[in-house]
Amino acid sequence: MTELPDNILHLPQYQVLGCKSTDDEMHFQVDVPDPIACEECGVQGEFVRFGKRDVPYRDLPIHGKRVTLWVVRRRYTCRACKTTFRPQLPEMVDGFRMTLRLHEYVEKESFNHPYTFVAAQTGLDEKTVRDIFNARAEFLGRWHRFETPRILGIDELYLNKRYRCILTNIEERTLLDLLATRRQDVVTNYLMKLKDRQKVEIVSMDMWNPYRAVGNWREETMTYFETDMPVTNAYTESINRLAKDKNREGRGYSFEVMRARMLYTTKHKKKAPTAKVSPFYKKTIGYGLPDFAEELNYGVDLSTI
Ligand SMILES: [Zn+2]
Repeated sequence: MTELPDNILHLPQYQVLGCKSTDDEMHFQVDVPDPIACEECGVQGEFVRFGKRDVPYRDLPIHGKRVTLWVVRRRYTCRACKTTFRPQLPEMVDGFRMTLRLHEYVEKESFNHPYTFVAAQTGLDEKTVRDIFNARAEFLGRWHRFETPRILGIDELYLNKRYRCILTNIEERTLLDLLATRRQDVVTNYLMKLKDRQKVEIVSMDMWNPYRAVGNWREETMTYFETDMPVTNAYTESINRLAKDKNREGRGYSFEVMRARMLYTTKHKKKAPTAKVSPFYKKTIGYGLPDFAEELNYGVDLSTI
């Protein structure tokens, strides 16, 4: 097989067959080489091509124009094992019908701009941008596992036109999470699901009368002392600054975007664990993530903000 030349798309594995462009759209018809071996049995060069159609995939904008790649997708039947298959496309995220590089671009841009802006720029619909953002934010949430504090601060913060609930680690001066509302059931539910919640010895919530009346979760889940530590107020200012800093463009961000930006695009406070851990100790971290829990992550470092 001859090697395909590089092309204006910088997708060396694709061959550009044609290009049509309008004021704000560019369309390319592109072809991929035949597969080398059967994806089922591995036998090489025993294919019969049949059926083809152009399938649209979105790509990065070029010169401000939205780009669609019409990929000539073929089906093949293998003479050796009689399987019919449609080969995997290189450089594409099939589930989203877009190039890998566009997917990465949207992941990044959706943290920095409103969904509508990213959608207009790329030609994707807003829901797709949101889906990509959500998947990314969820991944980051699993990746950055914040340690459960000994002294948990629960506070409120006026953000994006509503009162939100903020959770802090008072001893470490870090931000752990933001909840969309300060509604009691939402906060209670969050606390019930808190990992290692038995680690919490003290809960400080100095401004919230409704909470002082609630008993359910604390009796069941943690040793609870009500304190009047005035500590949390000191953070509110830092957290407000952080929120402003991450929302400079002003409007258009959803709460989820602001939350993810505040939690995952800010410096975290990390420390090496104090106790030596036996290499034979089986960790139960799970989540299917690589386990290099060398450092403990205490959350967003507020002392530097
Ligand atoms: Zn085969």
